[in-house]
Amino acid sequence: MRIDLHSHSTASDGTDPPAEVMRRARAAGLDVIALTDHDTMAGHDEAGRALPPGLALVPGMELSCRLDGHSVHLLAYHADPAHEGLAEQLHAITTDRLRRGRDMVARLRELGVGVTWEQVAAIAGDGVVGRPHVARAMVAAGAIASPEEAFTPEWIGAGGRAYVSRYALDPERAIRLVASAGGVTVLAHPGAPTRGWTIGDEAIGRLAKAGLSGLEVAHPDHDHAQRLRLAALAAGLGLVASGGSDDHGRLTGHRLGCETIAPAEYERLMSEVGGRHG
Ligand SMILES: [Zn+2]
Ligand SMILES: [Zn+2]
Repeated sequence: MRIDLHSHSTASDGTDPPAEVMRRARAAGLDVIALTDHDTMAGHDEAGRALPPGLALVPGMELSCRLDGHSVHLLAYHADPAHEGLAEQLHAITTDRLRRGRDMVARLRELGVGVTWEQVAAIAGDGVVGRPHVARAMVAAGAIASPEEAFTPEWIGAGGRAYVSRYALDPERAIRLVASAGGVTVLAHPGAPTRGWTIGDEAIGRLAKAGLSGLEVAHPDHDHAQRLRLAALAAGLGLVASGGSDDHGRLTGHRLGCETIAPAEYERLMSEVGGRHG
């Protein structure tokens, strides 16, 4: 069994529609794929309809959280999209992403970059607006050569000249909210530094107490030392050691299946869906 629990589609900032992500997942030899778009579950229906034989879909999303002023991502699986409190928070996050996208475009224009909100909105289409959409518009405007160049202090990297922060959830609250919607949570890429900051063991311990089910140990941005640290931490806290490719289609290089979760760990994670020990 090959299981990848982290992928993005055009429902957020991936470049491939959900159906194409499913097709590629099977082509990559996966048996299980989780679709985890940022702050939305909107891609699940299309993905479910397009499932090739032999591939199972785990409905997921990646929630935007903030801890001590730093961005933290929380993967949520099998949460009920109809849960009122959760739907309300997703609406608040995605609405503020629009506001923030407009604000970043305004700052870029002040810096002499000829991007417009219309361009960014056209690139995002029906998807939840994110910085990669702005980055692609900057490439189209000729300001930078490739989208990665946008994620620096010069432009829209965290704390950058045209960076604008946005509404995000407290992770402990998000963990409880997902649990109340019947889902389970895994802390995404906890070993990948953002602005030189990496979430510490003590903070992860607090999240575990709040009901976190797992840590993403296998992720393309984790070096060997981080994997060892996180695997030990997961074992010590009784958390599932998870893994996924964080594929964004063309943006990350098509890499579905490059990181996976062990089948036994996956079974353990799924056994917590609908309430721990339940
Ligand atoms: Zn993430
Ligand atoms: Zn992701």
